[in-house]
Amino acid sequence: MMVKGKLLKLLILGAPGSGKGTISARIVKKYNVVHISSGDKLREHIEKQSALGKEVKKYLNEGALVPDEVMIKFMSEELKKVSNSTWLLDGFPRTISQAEALWKIQPVDVVLNLVVPFEVIIDRISKRWVHLSSGRVYNLDFNKPKIHGKDDVTGEDLVQRPDDKPEAVRKRLEIYETITKPVISFYKKKDILKDFHGSTSDEIWPKVVAHLDTLF
Ligand code: ATP
Repeated sequence: MMVKGKLLKLLILGAPGSGKGTISARIVKKYNVVHISSGDKLREHIEKQSALGKEVKKYLNEGALVPDEVMIKFMSEELKKVSNSTWLLDGFPRTISQAEALWKIQPVDVVLNLVVPFEVIIDRISKRWVHLSSGRVYNLDFNKPKIHGKDDVTGEDLVQRPDDKPEAVRKRLEIYETITKPVISFYKKKDILKDFHGSTSDEIWPKVVAHLDTLF
């Protein structure tokens, strides 16, 4: 999609479990943009046991960040493949170095920042199940699969991510507070970031639509 002769590049930010995956899926469907989730891409590599998958597995399982140089190299390659599309980036950048590197490779035009209360996030992650190959996310409270433990579309097994276990969740939230939050300021200074507050994705979604409708 072209806006004023330019392909829009969108970025979504938010703490682990803030609903980035859910909101991204809705954006992709409604506005027909390409979704690039760094977490999903890394999990695919782990699944197929590629060299990169083997290298990053321990970081993901512990809820630690993959080193910047690995991430920047990997994501630069991924972004090259979609340079002719309007895309929505999710999960990258997560550090100031990554944000600076991305700004040099491909500046983003719009940043959506999801702001969800801390207690909501902890509760939500503990009830989250995912379908690994598609990235579809379910929640045992408010977005149950039709058949317990099975993906609605393929019928394949759902799994709990190893980094959704309590110890790893605590670590991911700590990292988010100390290392990833400065990325929000990075984009605020460039005046392209907008906050969206809410406790559920259904509450946040109409606000995102109102904002994106002004752009598309
Ligand atoms: P959500 O809960 O919304 O799925 P998340 O932030 O917890 O989001 P992912 O974005 O799927 O999870 O990332 C999972 C893991 O992948 C991270 O904990 C980290 O180990 C690794 N990872 C993904 N993106 C990056 C990145 N940009 N830099 C470093 N590590 C990353």
